[in-house]
Amino acid sequence: MADLKIRKLRKVFDGLEIIKGVDLDINDHEFVVFVGPSGCGKSTLLRLIAGLEEVTSGTISLDGRDITDVTPAKRDLAMVFQTYALYPHMSVRKNMSFALDLAGIDKSEVEAKVQDAARILELGHLLERKPKALSGGQRQRVAIGRAIVRNPKVFLFDEPLSNLDAALRVQMRLELARLHHDLNATMIYVTHDQVEAMTLADKVVVLNGGRIEQVGSPMALYHNPVNQFVAGFIGTPK
Ligand code: ADP
Ligand code: MG
Repeated sequence: MADLKIRKLRKVFDGLEIIKGVDLDINDHEFVVFVGPSGCGKSTLLRLIAGLEEVTSGTISLDGRDITDVTPAKRDLAMVFQTYALYPHMSVRKNMSFALDLAGIDKSEVEAKVQDAARILELGHLLERKPKALSGGQRQRVAIGRAIVRNPKVFLFDEPLSNLDAALRVQMRLELARLHHDLNATMIYVTHDQVEAMTLADKVVVLNGGRIEQVGSPMALYHNPVNQFVAGFIGTPK
């Protein structure tokens, strides 16, 4: 299960309101994409959900459990960063297993999870390599693998493909769609790229200036944008 409810969420940085009262429901198995111009608060909203920023006010609950003040590691969520954030001195295997080793999980269980993730992501032949000996796409897969081994209720992605070249972006987009299907996972995905949003999402959340302008399926947004902003950003002119 992964049923995420966000209520009246606000975030103030240095006296500036960055997230201005967000209400949002994310359902089990949904692929939800936050889209909007640079600086509109996409990453902040994702980081609030991940617990990497403290909320100013409002609540976040996951499957009925209030996680607003729960530490990131105990939220049952896993974040994949744009910059991958891999440990440079560790092998691919260790990068993927590190958090589980730290949590004291049984070695054979950890190895099974790493093998499983490596199979899904086609990283099996790269397990002993260090990140610097990997391509951008391979590094991104390791970062995703690190999330998969934790078996989270929700995967959080912050512009995971924006450091990749155009061809690889298209390939990874297809892989993410497959992953979403194969893992039967709930995913929240941040991008400023309309094409990514429209091709990946079950549900698109259009953000502007810290507020939600519209939530809907790609088709609904495309054909029935609620205002000029959404139309300009995604849909047809109204
Ligand atoms: P996006 O991901 O949509 O580009 P962000 O969520 O990163 O936008 O940023 C939204 C706004 O919040 C920006 O104006 C940014 O400068 C501000 N902001 C983000 N993080 C911080 C922070 N830690 N301290 C102060 N301001 C921040
Ligand atoms: Mg951002």
